[in-house]
Amino acid sequence: MTAVSAVRSTQARSLSHPTLRQGARGPSVTLLQQKLRAHGFNVSVDGDFGPNTAAAVRAFQQARRLGVDGVVGPNTWNALNAAAPSTGGGGATPTLRQGARGAAVSQLQNRLRAHGYNVSVDGDFGPATANAVRSFQRAKGLGVDGVVGPATWRALNGGSVGPPPATGGARVNGYVNGVAQSITVSSVGNGKFLRTDAANAFNRMKADAARAGINLSVVSGFRTMDEQRYLYNLYLQGRGNLAARPGYSNHQSGISADLSVPGGYGSATYRWLQNNGRRYGFVNDVGGEPWHWTYRG
Ligand SMILES: [Zn+2]
Repeated sequence: MTAVSAVRSTQARSLSHPTLRQGARGPSVTLLQQKLRAHGFNVSVDGDFGPNTAAAVRAFQQARRLGVDGVVGPNTWNALNAAAPSTGGGGATPTLRQGARGAAVSQLQNRLRAHGYNVSVDGDFGPATANAVRSFQRAKGLGVDGVVGPATWRALNGGSVGPPPATGGARVNGYVNGVAQSITVSSVGNGKFLRTDAANAFNRMKADAARAGINLSVVSGFRTMDEQRYLYNLYLQGRGNLAARPGYSNHQSGISADLSVPGGYGSATYRWLQNNGRRYGFVNDVGGEPWHWTYRG
């Protein structure tokens, strides 16, 4: 064991990392889901270890060559706590075809789901994934071969939001109260965006929080219509957080941010936000969701 991994496993033990399996609920499940998201698995952070979280755990275990049992014990916690690979636009995007397996396939499946394709995130590029890739390629006017090469990866990682230009914000297709509207967004780090005025306020708040020893990180910021549809469908199926009807989410207006709040309402992060968020224009406006903060200016 290297010094670094020794430190990591000591830290892991010092936090609350009980063995978790499907049916578990509470702050440790929230932490697990945040870790899974950091590793590129698109699970809801709802503190409820349901089938979707179990599927993500199995895919993660498979990718890390751990025992694939869907149970989060010490080895899986240690792997989750190790540095997450970079995913999305900057991540590894090897050419993939049917028969491929592993973390890159899970990433592919997560991106397909974000675009509205109902594939399992199991790290296994089978016929259903190949069908979804072909549909996606057809919809985007790409060559329809079921093979995920650079052009398909670019389209998968695209969506409405690109990296913001150095000169200012990027224009994206947002929604305000059901009405399509072009809005300007800026980066809040972590590959996430908020409407530029909200992003500026958030970045000021984040800097001040950091000085107080609180790390504010955005798990979900501005959402495209595709992303909101996906989350709303999960919610309707009872597998996700409360999600607003597509077109009506403040995430689609770029003013709501879901933050990483390990430990929820009782945590130091939540207390800091409760005491200080309003000074930056942010309020926690959904009951039961300590992570959801909306910019009200
Ligand atoms: Zn939210």
